[in-house]
Amino acid sequence: MKKFFIGALALGLLAACNTNEEQIQSQDETVNNAIASRGSCPSEEIRQQALQNNPELMKKYIDIENKTAKYQQDLSLGRVLADGTVEIPVVVNVIYRTSAENISDAQIASQIARLNADYGGTNSDINQIPSEFASVAAGDTKVRFRLDRVTRTSTSVRSWRTNDAMKKTSTKGKDAFQPANYFNIWVVGDMGGVLGYATFPESAGLWNDGVVIAAKYFGNTSYAPYNMGRTATHEVGHYLNLRHIWGDGACATDFVDDTPTQQDKNFGKPTYPQIDVCGGVSRSIMFMNYMDYVDDAAMFMFSAGQKTRMNAVTASTGARAGLRLY
Ligand SMILES: [Zn+2]
Repeated sequence: MKKFFIGALALGLLAACNTNEEQIQSQDETVNNAIASRGSCPSEEIRQQALQNNPELMKKYIDIENKTAKYQQDLSLGRVLADGTVEIPVVVNVIYRTSAENISDAQIASQIARLNADYGGTNSDINQIPSEFASVAAGDTKVRFRLDRVTRTSTSVRSWRTNDAMKKTSTKGKDAFQPANYFNIWVVGDMGGVLGYATFPESAGLWNDGVVIAAKYFGNTSYAPYNMGRTATHEVGHYLNLRHIWGDGACATDFVDDTPTQQDKNFGKPTYPQIDVCGGVSRSIMFMNYMDYVDDAAMFMFSAGQKTRMNAVTASTGARAGLRLY
């Protein structure tokens, strides 16, 4: 689409330039006759001559028109909603060996619904956020997900590793569908002890870009305590540039100011409050954040700072701006 548009624009511009030369000549004659008229605004003619004489300016002009056209397309397609919410088109690639691994459309729908609830701040357990964290809760992150298509691929692979084999047709998986513009999720059978894993925004548009989730933990399932679809909520956080809340090190940073520094990951269903000491300072930690390791039923919030990081990535200037386009 982009190439087509640049080509069409260049053709239009050439045609415009040819006529403009003639117009500019005749305009000079008109000016000599010196009858001022509202019907004579030479801005565009002057611009076209400048563009012809200055390749750098021409480059900027084409870039601006392309970006404007894409913005218009975004709006007409609904990927950027009227309130600025970015609606991410999702491709679910089901890679199955057994019939149980060939998950139902209903299970897929339950996962999309979970993502929209958690990222929209409409999850029913949001009222469990402790009052001390209420002021820094993200609420609606302005990110939504729309199932665009489902692919189903039969495979002979019994157990997968985290080496991206499921992301290639040539290695008994399935190639990503246009990863620069669509969010690909691969749902596979067994991955050992791994529930899921994600690529970060530096991989935007690459062949392996997206999220992998084991079928047992995708959407609403019977595999408690990871049965509520929040493995995907967590992994999509990584896809949108969130780090683990403990910063993947002892008292390390997640580059978010409003998530209290914590010593390490948490598991299970901790009771509130949990107090960590980092750098000699005691803090009540936000273990109920989606980017910790607690059970699905024990996580129910993003912070405002995390929302800012995700919005930076999905912005028109962000690494994942391609998700706003087609
Ligand atoms: Zn993680």
